[in-house]
Amino acid sequence: MPEGDTIHYAARRIRPIVEDEVPHISTPHPRFGRDRWPERLAGRRVRSVDPHGKHLFLRFDGDLTIHSHLRMTGSWGTYRDGQRWRGGAHRAWLVLRTDRGEVVQFDGPVLELLTGSRTRFDRQLSQLGPDILAPELDEVTFLRRLREDDPTRPIGDALLDQRTIAGIGNLWKCEGCFAAAIDPWRPTGEISDEEALAIVRATRPGMQESATDGMQDLHRVVYKATGRPCPRCGTPIRERGQGDGNRLTYWCPGCQR
Ligand SMILES: [Zn+2]
Repeated sequence: MPEGDTIHYAARRIRPIVEDEVPHISTPHPRFGRDRWPERLAGRRVRSVDPHGKHLFLRFDGDLTIHSHLRMTGSWGTYRDGQRWRGGAHRAWLVLRTDRGEVVQFDGPVLELLTGSRTRFDRQLSQLGPDILAPELDEVTFLRRLREDDPTRPIGDALLDQRTIAGIGNLWKCEGCFAAAIDPWRPTGEISDEEALAIVRATRPGMQESATDGMQDLHRVVYKATGRPCPRCGTPIRERGQGDGNRLTYWCPGCQR
C-alpha cells in the first residue's frame, strides 16, 4: 500500500513534467466520466504539485485542485513522450500531457476536482495531521494530536491515524517502532513524549531516502520478516494483527520495549 514516501516520490517525478505548464488533459476511463475535466481545466497552468501524507494535490490556476489518494490500488506513472506505459491504457483514469512528458493516474480510486473553498472545508483534508515528510516536522502538533487520541490504543496503531501524523502506513509504523526500539503494542498513554518523538524521528530518514530514490524495499528490516533473527538481538521477528484494521504488525519481542 502506498505510504507517504511513495506519494512524495511520485510528486518528484510529476513536478518536472507539469509544473508551470498548461497540460493537455484527458480522462479516458469510461467509468471515470468526470464532469468535463478536460474543459474545466483547459488552458490552466499547474501552479504546484503538493504531497501531504498519502494525499497528492495538483493545484491549477483559478483555484482548482486535483486531489488524489491511491488507497491500496492506485498508482502514478510518469513517461517520456512515446514511452510505453507500465499499466494498461484501460486502467488510466487521468492523463496530463506536456512537451516534457506524460503523467498517468491508474486505477483511482480517489480522484476528485476540488474548488478552493472545498479544499479548505473538506473535513477529512482539513483534519490531516502534520506530514511526516515535511522539511520541518511539526512535533508540537503531532504530540498534541497523539494525546487527544485514546490512551489505551497501542502506539503502533495510533501512528496509522492520519489526523495524528500524515504519511505513515503499516510498513513504516513497523520500521519506525523497530528503529526506535519501542514495542508497538504498548498503550499510547504509557509512551512518553520523548519516546513518541524518538519513533517519528527514527522513521523520517528512511522515508526521506525512499521519497528520493523510490526504493522502499531497501529500507525494510522487520516488515514481513517473520521468523528471521532480529539484526540487533537475534530474537525471531514476530507478527500479529493490530487495531481495527487488523494490520499485520512485525516487531522484535527481544529488544523493542
Ligand atoms: Zn531485537
